Amino acid sequence: MNIHEYQAKEVLKGFGAPVASGVPITQVSEAEAAARQLPGPLYVVKSQIHAGGRGKGKFKELGPDAKGGVRLAKSVEEVVQHATEMLGNTLVTAQTGDAGKQVNRLYIEDGADIDRELYLSILVDRAVGRVAFVASTEGGMDIETVAHETPEKIITVAIDPLEGVTEADAGKLCDALELDGQARTDGMSLFPILYKAFTEKDMSLLEINPLIVMTDGRLRVLDAKVSFDGNALFRHDDIKALRDESEEDAKEIEASKYDLAYVALDGDIGCMVNGAGLAMATMDIIKLYGKEPANFLDVGGGADKAKVTAAFKIITADPAVKGILVNIFGGIMKCDVIAEGVVAAVKEVGLKVPLVVRLEGTNVDKGKAILNDSGLAITAADDLDDAAKKIVAAVG
Ligand code: GDP
Ligand code: MG
Repeated sequence: MNIHEYQAKEVLKGFGAPVASGVPITQVSEAEAAARQLPGPLYVVKSQIHAGGRGKGKFKELGPDAKGGVRLAKSVEEVVQHATEMLGNTLVTAQTGDAGKQVNRLYIEDGADIDRELYLSILVDRAVGRVAFVASTEGGMDIETVAHETPEKIITVAIDPLEGVTEADAGKLCDALELDGQARTDGMSLFPILYKAFTEKDMSLLEINPLIVMTDGRLRVLDAKVSFDGNALFRHDDIKALRDESEEDAKEIEASKYDLAYVALDGDIGCMVNGAGLAMATMDIIKLYGKEPANFLDVGGGADKAKVTAAFKIITADPAVKGILVNIFGGIMKCDVIAEGVVAAVKEVGLKVPLVVRLEGTNVDKGKAILNDSGLAITAADDLDDAAKKIVAAVG
């Protein structure tokens, strides 16, 4: 689960990390009062959307010459001006896709005088099986570009889970970020704080880009992107409360109600599969035959008819879907249950696109009989390869 920058800063502040004062607003009428709560004379007006690259982003409605989604203001009046221009408009950034995201909330923040912009993140490094810090002096820009062009400028420090962030770890990070004086002192206390926040709140990513050294020599968290491990949310009611469903894919929200593992993708072949591995293989084989999957969907082992029906409805509700491939290997899952769910869903919502079904395993004959007797235009397939070929051919 992702949260907004202003929420992430609030969480980090709770652990003692240095962040600027700020006020979130959703109406232009709130902009002036928000700015007056801050010391000035420099303010920042920041679009709150679940996507990065806001500073370099462009508002669809404002044309190419207008300023981006993160703006500096030198007076309260200027804050109000920016808020008027930005709120309600659509921001397109390198991460939003062409459709962009509507800016429904701004964060009005106390502006910082920046000396240097650094990059710092914490993530789970699967290669070493540990939580690791990633640091670079090249902050404020796209870290993927830095990784591609100057990989030597990115330093990774893996943390021993029993020891936590040691003096030596923090020292390494300070060296990597070329921190000295007050900034080094700030860094030595900041790194353990961030690690504590990451582990206690079950984050999967904490990215600070940029972490800044201000002209007074102090460190500040200037931007914050935080993702949480969805499987651990049950033990963090405070974090769950930060969820903003308006930022999420409607189909994914619906799927989560039925406990379906669903991820919306850009292709046009909808997939309903049981088992994550089989779902991945199904997506691969669709691509092998030249098409793109519209989604990842694992209905799970113990899915009942209601769940299968819900899954099928979510797939057909996606206007991009030009064909559906149901690929079930019945182990714990029974083929007749899947067949019943598919037939029930098709009867309820209709079938406007080709449907190829491959069933194998427990109760396969019962399942096939249910599909055959349904009178629906379903193409049966013998195996995964056959199924992929048939759906790709049907979609054309
Ligand atoms: P992003 O574009 O979505 O990553 O948003 P950021 O929060 O990282 O802001 C983008 C850029 O705006 C930063 O890299 C800074 O250069 C600039 N910026 C943001 N806040 C401040 C501030 O308080 N003072 C100054 N001088 N620049 C800022
Ligand atoms: Mg940033």
